[in-house]
Amino acid sequence: MNTDKLDLPVPGDGEVLFVALGGLGEIGMNLALYGHAGQWIAVDMGVTFGDEETPGIDVIVPDIQVIDRLGDKLKAVLVTHAHEDHIGGIPYLSGRFKCPVFCSPFAASFLRRKLEDDGGRKGKKVKIVEIPSGGRRAVGPFDIELIPMPHSVPEAHLTALRSPAGLVVHTGDWKLDPDPVVGKPADEARLAALGEEGVAAVVGDSTNALREGWTRSEAELAEPIAEIIRTRDRRVLFACFSSNIARINTIAKAAAAAGKDVGLVGRSLWRMHDVAEGQGYLKGLPRFLREDELAMTPAGKLVAICTGSQGEPRAALHRIADGQHRHIEIDPADTVVFSSRDIPGNEKAIGRLQNRLVAMGVDVVTDGTAKVHVSGHPARDEIRHLYGLLKPKRLLPAHGEGRHLYGHAQFGEEIGIKETRVAFNGDVMRLAGGDFEALGKVHVGRIGVDNGVSVSLAGDALRDRRRMRVDGVAMVTIVLDEKGEIAADSMATLAGVEAAEDEELLIEIEEAIDDAVEDLSRKARRDDVAVEDAASSALRRILRKRTGKRPHINVHVIRV
Ligand SMILES: [Zn+2]
Ligand SMILES: [Zn+2]
Repeated sequence: MNTDKLDLPVPGDGEVLFVALGGLGEIGMNLALYGHAGQWIAVDMGVTFGDEETPGIDVIVPDIQVIDRLGDKLKAVLVTHAHEDHIGGIPYLSGRFKCPVFCSPFAASFLRRKLEDDGGRKGKKVKIVEIPSGGRRAVGPFDIELIPMPHSVPEAHLTALRSPAGLVVHTGDWKLDPDPVVGKPADEARLAALGEEGVAAVVGDSTNALREGWTRSEAELAEPIAEIIRTRDRRVLFACFSSNIARINTIAKAAAAAGKDVGLVGRSLWRMHDVAEGQGYLKGLPRFLREDELAMTPAGKLVAICTGSQGEPRAALHRIADGQHRHIEIDPADTVVFSSRDIPGNEKAIGRLQNRLVAMGVDVVTDGTAKVHVSGHPARDEIRHLYGLLKPKRLLPAHGEGRHLYGHAQFGEEIGIKETRVAFNGDVMRLAGGDFEALGKVHVGRIGVDNGVSVSLAGDALRDRRRMRVDGVAMVTIVLDEKGEIAADSMATLAGVEAAEDEELLIEIEEAIDDAVEDLSRKARRDDVAVEDAASSALRRILRKRTGKRPHINVHVIRV
């Protein structure tokens, strides 16, 4: 248990409070709480992904003990869009709240599929309420409006939260793309109307707030991608995020124009395909080849879109590069296009995968060498433009690491926003109806999900894993009779230690352990814990001296 505060203040009738349980000070795991008139709603409930610091952990969710304590004061979970860092936590956490999930039809369809696929998990019976993109309705203590914005997934929304305490805008993830390929450009008249109504505060996307200029349009990729597909006479594989339906449209159209077939490889791509098709986002495209049709398609006619742009070992592209995929092979004349960005933390895994492909002779194309990717987040000129329409009095940067949040706040001041504040996960802020200030701090944390089981990232399991990875493991078995006399020689084994096969060392360890046990009083020898402690310290001493390492130690005491 933690000793931090778990209870949020009760928001008054005249104010809007805000606290993030994830997403402030990091890119990922977004979860914001907005409070008004004694009630709260959550905006987004995302995940982040494990890295080399979290061995065995693929998915990380926010610690939501604060939400547990809210009970029925939490009236809604509102999802801005169907990216994992905004929606991915719901299947893991839905057993912890009773309120409905509100989202647009695309996100709802995606969420239903996820809950079905992960049906073994508890909490699958979450109530989903659809709000059409552009729609408005009462959600908890707020009058909510979802205003569609271009991004890198269909149906991303800027959320207007209205209450008697004022209008607060949560931008979500956005860009001002004049030609987003899927969906429409932002409705600037609608955004300007919010500005006229009066925006008390904006909580804004900081991902690209350190970048000058305007993020390039999705439509600008059509020609460079078409050229790659047209000019290659062998297979062309694209790795991209499965949620990037616009990119899938661009690639599929270019393939059709070049007289080639296009297939999808990977489970998450097929899941998104089904959702997007059901919601009408794949209209006018040729049918996508199933995985079992790929081998029958001549290499010169094949374009394949694959999962695994981040170098994930179990995703399609990694398995293809390893020659482990059932339906598709790769050879040196092929081309692999990384139509994606490197998510921070994944650079090494991506580099390893690209090195492997290059070593095979494959032509690897990335956004460093060709125009094959654009960001879904706004750079400074777009932020200036949006805030020019909304005219917010206050700015709280979100969706960024510390440097992004501070850079965004500073930029906000430069372009004339009166009050800016930087807050991190757990900081309770008053956004409207009183001073713009921090009211305290509540407990936040990160919980790893390991095969469906929650593991505290600050707890023993992860500490042991990291230690085993660095220092190895030492295991000792001690056999005692009921009087506490040694009944058989102790046995030691080492794993992940340089001296693991050193017979002399093992014998020295076994003798030292016998000595340590014999030195114990008769009474202590009947106590398993005392025996384990004595053996552990003897073992630690020898290993320290002989190997310089501190392996994870495991002592078993057997009574015969
Ligand atoms: Zn997003
Ligand atoms: Zn995001």
